[in-house]
Amino acid sequence: MTVTYDNRVAIVTGAGGGLGREHAILLARQGVSVVVNDIGAHPETQAPMADRVVDEIRAFGGKAVANYDSVDTAVAAQRIIATAIDAFGRLDILVNNAGILRDRSFAKVELADFELVLRVHLMGAIYCTHAAWPHLIEQKHGRVILTTSVAGLNGNFGQSAYGAAKMGMIGLMNCLALEGRKSNVLINAVSPGAQTRMTEAVNPAHLVPYLDPALISPMVAWLASDECNVSGEIFWAAAGGFARYHYFETEGVQFDPLASVTPQMVAESIDTIRDLKRPIPSVPGSFGRFEERLRAVGRWDAPE
Ligand code: NAD
Repeated sequence: MTVTYDNRVAIVTGAGGGLGREHAILLARQGVSVVVNDIGAHPETQAPMADRVVDEIRAFGGKAVANYDSVDTAVAAQRIIATAIDAFGRLDILVNNAGILRDRSFAKVELADFELVLRVHLMGAIYCTHAAWPHLIEQKHGRVILTTSVAGLNGNFGQSAYGAAKMGMIGLMNCLALEGRKSNVLINAVSPGAQTRMTEAVNPAHLVPYLDPALISPMVAWLASDECNVSGEIFWAAAGGFARYHYFETEGVQFDPLASVTPQMVAESIDTIRDLKRPIPSVPGSFGRFEERLRAVGRWDAPE
């Protein structure tokens, strides 16, 4: 199976280092023209981190330009998108990757930090995607990739803000998967695990040799490719392993909606409601077992 990019143009946010740098370099190696966005500067030289990645890409003959705007305002996000249009005349791929951490337990977290994390991760992805959306819809081709995290998908102590932001993206994705599909604008999420500046203090030493951030980029590159045909899905990637994350609706119980339903009835059925047997996947736009449940108690009165 081939993986192709027909003169595509990508933006990778937060691409001055870590995962974003690897995504930008791999896309550029596939012939994609890349906007390398990052607000960061190297600690010693103060040189913009994005510039070094652009130089690396140009050194192997790739096409790249730098952008230094922060993703966390709508105006700056417009400038990031405009950089792609001005430099390369179009935009096909948006990899929302920029991020920060402000880890504290919920009892101790300052709300200003909570809001900052939401603004960079969640609103940053929203601002950039919102600015890119009209271009993608109009040309009937687009690939949007979100960077989520197990801190949201599974939860993690001390990461309530980060986890909330990363799960907020999943709600955004589920809705945009529906809105983009007929225009061939596909949106998916990657949940990575890698050794970067963000995680250098937290990864166990015995795993570090396996956590090359470059091992995440092949999944991002496939989701960005012309051949990608999935939307609204979450992919886990770490240490050369890839899997799909999903959530499910259990079989549960159905009471008669026209009779009284009491807390006692819920209490008596709670084990059945929680039982994970016969799960069905929740997919964008689906009402799950709603019809099946109402039919079971003779309350589905819709015309056939
Ligand atoms: P990193 O710190 O190396 O990279 C993040 C980059 O984003 C930095 O270069 C930083 O300068 C840039 N950035 C921060 N705020 C920005 C802003 N407002 N506008 C533009 N750029 C900004 O960390 P990383 O591990 O490469 O993280 C990349 C993404 O992956 C993040 O969204 C992170 O939450 C996510 N993630 C990483 C891991 C992991 O194991 N490394 C796990 C789960 C999720």
